[in-house]
Amino acid sequence: MTDATVRGVVVGGTGGVWQVRTEGGQTVDAALRGRLKKSNSGKRADGSLRRDTITAAAETLKLAVGDDVQLERGERDDAWAIAEILPRRSRLARRAPGGGQGERVVAANVDQVVVMFAAAKPEPHPRMLDRFLVIAEGNRLAARIVINKVDLASEQETRDRFHVYETIGYPVHFTAVKAGLGLDGMRAALGGRRSVLTGPSGVGKSSLLNAIFPGAKLRVGAISESVNKGRHTTVGAVMLPLPDGEDGYVIDTPGLREVGLWALPAGELDRCFPEMRTPREQCRFGDCRHVSEPDCGVRDAVSSGAIAAERYDSYLRLLEELESER
Ligand code: GDP
Ligand code: ZN
Repeated sequence: MTDATVRGVVVGGTGGVWQVRTEGGQTVDAALRGRLKKSNSGKRADGSLRRDTITAAAETLKLAVGDDVQLERGERDDAWAIAEILPRRSRLARRAPGGGQGERVVAANVDQVVVMFAAAKPEPHPRMLDRFLVIAEGNRLAARIVINKVDLASEQETRDRFHVYETIGYPVHFTAVKAGLGLDGMRAALGGRRSVLTGPSGVGKSSLLNAIFPGAKLRVGAISESVNKGRHTTVGAVMLPLPDGEDGYVIDTPGLREVGLWALPAGELDRCFPEMRTPREQCRFGDCRHVSEPDCGVRDAVSSGAIAAERYDSYLRLLEELESER
């Protein structure tokens, strides 16, 4: 029965029926099997897979877009079943809805978070950009920034505005999708990786994907529509395979903006600002909040200009938000 076992990646679904893209490039519907095998389960001597272990109830909640899975033919020959979830190398998780302590995995095996803003229309909101970056850092994911619609603003002003992010170490791409500017760099940045693309609606996310991956045939506005729908649903991420022959995917996760800081302890916020990592070593107190404590290396770095005042302002706002949730 070895030919009945197929590797695939979950590209959509919210429970019940999942869409799985097989290694052969076919997308099939699959249901999670009643009982899953352990991801590290070996085969029996006769070659069959073990059927014991993890209960489906626990694993159903955990399966997410981006998960690599093992498919098997179900009882009837025309149906596929997800028999095994393979180990994850990363994940983007949020707090479980309803204020519980648990977390919900929004997407699995993510390589990077790509945060897109517009130079104008809509006006960029750097404090919101900082929030997206903190979400990426909190999940230990690499992040890059795209500033689109550079045709609508002065080039120098736009570059100055986002220069601070380059000094911190985030790659910043400047694009004018409509004019075809900066697309090669984006193609290179997305190819061969699994990227979560996010940002406010109207900045040009679907336009970008249509421009660099014509095969994707996304409707302009499609991503922002699903973001709005995400407000009312739980999770509904979709993963779009990039039609370039590489193993690249762009993941659209609705509701990324609305979910606050996602189970991030307040004491870990400073770690999510890369430019604070070295200065915080100079703080007198190991648990310094960098607000009003004496001998604070972070505040010294803000005074000297080594840390941008705007970034520190974002830190304070987010800290207040996290501390008020306790
Ligand atoms: P999304 O909501 O982030 O997916 O944004 P869309 O891709 O739907 O684009 C929103 C609007 O911005 C559309 O009317 C696009 O035509 C327009 N747009 C996209 N890229 C550019 C650009 O580089 N310059 C200008 N001026 N408009 C753009
Ligand atoms: Zn401090």
